[in-house]
Amino acid sequence: MFTRRDLLKSAGIGAIALGVSSQPVFSAAEKVVKMEAMLPPPKGNRVVICGGGWAGLTVAKYLKKENPNIDVVLIEKRPNFISCPISNPWLADLVSLDFLSHDYNQPAAKYGYRFINAAVIGIERDKKRVYTPHGFIEYNYLVLAPGIRYNYAAWFKEDKEMARFTRMNFPAAFIPGSELLALKRKVHEFEEGDFIITVPPGAYRCPPAPYERACMVAEVFKRNKVKGRVIVLDPKDDIAPKGPGFRAAFEQVYLGIIEYVPKASIKEVDPVNKVIKTTAGDFKFVDANLVPPHQAGALLWMADLIAKDKEGKPTGWADQDPLTFQAKADPNVFLVGDVISGTPYPKSGHMGNSQGKIVAKIIASRIAGKEYKPTLPDNTCYSMVNGSPQEAIVINVNYEYNEKEKKITPKPKVINERSEALAKATYEWARAIYRDMFA
Ligand SMILES: Cc1cc2nc3c(=O)[nH]c(=O)nc-3n(C[C@H](O)[C@H](O)[C@H](O)COP(=O)(O)OP(=O)(O)OC[C@H]3O[C@@H](n4cnc5c(N)ncnc54)[C@H](O)[C@@H]3O)c2cc1C
Repeated sequence: MFTRRDLLKSAGIGAIALGVSSQPVFSAAEKVVKMEAMLPPPKGNRVVICGGGWAGLTVAKYLKKENPNIDVVLIEKRPNFISCPISNPWLADLVSLDFLSHDYNQPAAKYGYRFINAAVIGIERDKKRVYTPHGFIEYNYLVLAPGIRYNYAAWFKEDKEMARFTRMNFPAAFIPGSELLALKRKVHEFEEGDFIITVPPGAYRCPPAPYERACMVAEVFKRNKVKGRVIVLDPKDDIAPKGPGFRAAFEQVYLGIIEYVPKASIKEVDPVNKVIKTTAGDFKFVDANLVPPHQAGALLWMADLIAKDKEGKPTGWADQDPLTFQAKADPNVFLVGDVISGTPYPKSGHMGNSQGKIVAKIIASRIAGKEYKPTLPDNTCYSMVNGSPQEAIVINVNYEYNEKEKKITPKPKVINERSEALAKATYEWARAIYRDMFA
């Protein structure tokens, strides 16, 4: 459980002002975090949603649609929304940054939820409080949807300086913001040699994203006549989950530009000398998009809601019910989007949006004192595999639940044959889902 001491620590305040003497003296900084309630107590039920990404935004809107009387508060640390989906085509200038950017005010004003632009710095589940630098907010139900964080410790253990160096110089760009802008600059300024993309091991955000990214980086090299190669280092035996669609693009559209290396588990990353040692050999690079392993975002760790394996070690992902998304340790908390585990669901924006609608129904029913039998989410994922002409492939997945075995099974439908029609459908999908969250 996150304690007051942890809260002060995370806000950068030492233990000196904790008030251990009979007459505590508070420093100026302590006064800032000697939290007052930020909002008046709710008249009815209040749902606080931490994280305004694909999942959190959807929960906020659909809760208000289910029941306008629920007091819905969305807390998000970014001032505006930039989409990771379609960011790969944007790398190759197939769309503008405007296409990816959206404002938080429009949906909050239209659907009547409260948007607070602040970072969540603490969670006290026993008091049902969420802390921001501006004060605390009390909740009846809490939704945690903070997305992912990078696990550089898997590469560098305790060496935080090396992690920082890597993140600054070879950003993963799997979390939107400056990293995406930096990656685009690197790709467009690249002159010659090998550009490496690492595919993370285990569960990670958007399984096809590294392969789509390889195509779009290669598209820029091809267009700019750069004498460069894009080397994709993948720990898996083969491209997952769409196989031949990407392979065909690598071998037909970007032959001689993309080199795909399977079974390349990373043994050592040396960002200073620009060498990566893998189980498939050592690779030197001129520049790189180094994507480390992923974990559930920090809020899940803060709230002590990470699943443990048989030995009691954290798995890195949320411990939630696979059908209701309710935290196993706390019936008042729901965990949604990329953070979840124990399901065959991929970590995708479409999936976060689909789950968000289910969670909104579950919470609204709970508040109304009604039973609700949760449905299953679905997923659609387009990947742009050619930039000229624009061509894409797609995977659609529905899921089936076997009550007896308590098992969710994916039923995928894959179109691996790239086409211009699917490229058009990619942008239609994006427009429709942005509209769903923002308009
Ligand atoms: C290159 C790339 C391409 C992709 N392409 C596709 C695609 O084509 N289709 C698709 O469906 N998916 C795609 N994805 C995946 C998609 O982006 C993610 O699955 C989706 O963003 C997950 O939604 P989420 O709400 O769980 O997390 P996010 O969208 O990351 O939202 C989490 C939010 O929480 C906020 N937050 C975190 N911590 C705090 C805090 N302490 N206080 C306040 N706010 C906080 C973050 O700022 C963020 O806005 C792609 C991803 C990448 C990287």
